Amino acid sequence: MKRISLIGGTGSIGVQTCDVIEQHPDLFELEAYAFGTNVEVATEWINRLRPKYVSATSIEVLEQLKPRLTYEPLYFIGPEGLKECATAERADIVVTAVVGAVGLEPTLAAIQAGKDVALANKETLVTAGHLVKASVKEHGVNLLPVDSEHSAIYQCLNGERREDVSKIILTASGGSFRDRSRDELADVTVEDALNHPNWSMGAKITIDSATMFNKGLEVIEAHWLFDIDYNDIEVILHRESIIHSMVEFKDATVMAQLGNPDMRGPILYALSGPKRLEIEGNKRLNLKEIGKLHFEEADFNRYPALRLAFEAGRAGGSMPTVLNAANEVAVDLFLNGQIAFLEIERFVEDAMARHEVIAEPTLAQILEVDRAVRQQIQQGIEGGE
Ligand code: NDP
Ligand code: MG
Repeated sequence: MKRISLIGGTGSIGVQTCDVIEQHPDLFELEAYAFGTNVEVATEWINRLRPKYVSATSIEVLEQLKPRLTYEPLYFIGPEGLKECATAERADIVVTAVVGAVGLEPTLAAIQAGKDVALANKETLVTAGHLVKASVKEHGVNLLPVDSEHSAIYQCLNGERREDVSKIILTASGGSFRDRSRDELADVTVEDALNHPNWSMGAKITIDSATMFNKGLEVIEAHWLFDIDYNDIEVILHRESIIHSMVEFKDATVMAQLGNPDMRGPILYALSGPKRLEIEGNKRLNLKEIGKLHFEEADFNRYPALRLAFEAGRAGGSMPTVLNAANEVAVDLFLNGQIAFLEIERFVEDAMARHEVIAEPTLAQILEVDRAVRQQIQQGIEGGE
C-alpha cells in the first residue's frame, strides 16, 4: 500500500491523480489533500477518498468546506498547510500538482522529510533546480516525473546506461496558435489561447503551451531531471502528441514512448512504475486510424520563448528564476485582459535583460528574486508602462 499526499488536488492533474488513486484502492491510499479555493471539487474528492490531512488557502475557504464533509479530517491552511500536507507523517510519496513557484517550499519540505516526489509542478524545478537536486541527493529520495515528456524520457531510459545517451528529443504540440504566423498573434484573445488542440489542462499551462514557454520550462526541467547538458536537448514540433518524447543513444538508436494523450498514464507510472497498471477508460493507440505523424522544426524566431528558456538555462544561477517569475505574472496579466499575448514574451525578455545573475542562489535569494521580479512587472503595469 502506497500512501499519497496530493498538493493541488482540485486542478487538472490533481483530479486525474484522485481518479487513478480511486481506481486502485488495493494499492493506493490518499493520506493528505491540499487545494486552493475550489470548494466544490475539493468536497467531492475529499469525501470519496477520505484523506487524514486537508489544507486550503484560507480559513474562509475551510469554513465553507467543513459542513460539506462526511467525516472529520485534520485541517490546515495557507503555505504552512501545504507544507504540513507535503510532510504528512505516514505519506510515502507527494504528488506536486500545484501551479507555479508556490510549490517550491512544500516540495523541499517533502524531500527533507524523506518523501519521494512525483513532480508535475515543473515551475519548482525551473526556479530552483539546483536546490531541489541537492536535497534529493542528500536525503536519498526519488524524484519522479509526471510531465508526459519527462515520463516518456524516464521510461525510454529504463535499463539503459546513462553514459550511452547522446541526446534528448522533447516533442511539442505547438499549442493553440501553431497554425498562425507571428503577425497573426498580435490581437489573439484569451479564449483563443485557452483552446488547446490536444490536451485539456489548467489555464496557466495552456497559455504556456501557446507561447511555447511550456516547452521552454520543460527544457530546463529535463536538464535537472536527467542531468543533461542544454546542448544535448532538442525540441521538435509534433502536432499529434502521440510520441511523448524520445532519447537518442550513441549508436544512433532512438527510443520513443507513444500513447494517446492522457495524463493519467504518466501519473500512474510515477506512482507505480516500473509496474504497469490498467487505467479505466483510456483509449488504446490505433496507429492505423492515425495514419500519419508529423514533425517540424521548432523555430526560435517563431517561438522566442524557446530561445529565452535555453538562454536562461545556460546562464544558470538565478536566471531561470527570473524567467519563471516573469512568465507567471505575465500569464496572469494576459488572463486578466491587462496585456496582449505577445507582451508575455516581451515581459520575460525585459526581466531577464535587467537581471544580474547570482551564480549559486540560496533559497532566500531565490524567493527574493522571485518576489522582486513580480513586483517590478506589477508596478510597471500600474504605472501605465
Ligand atoms: P490547474 O490550474 O488545473 O490546478 C492548479 C492547482 O493548484 C489547483 O488545485 C489549485 O487550487 C492549486 N493551487 C494554486 N495555487 C495554490 C496555492 N497558493 N495554494 C494551494 N493550492 C494552490 O493546473 P494543472 O493541473 O494544469 O497544472 C498543475 C501543474 O502541473 C503545473 O505546474 C503544470 O505545469 C503541471 N502540468 C500539468 C499538466 C496538465 O495536463 N494539466 C501536464 C504536465 C504538467 P484551486 O483551484 O482550488 O484554487
Ligand atoms: Mg508536458
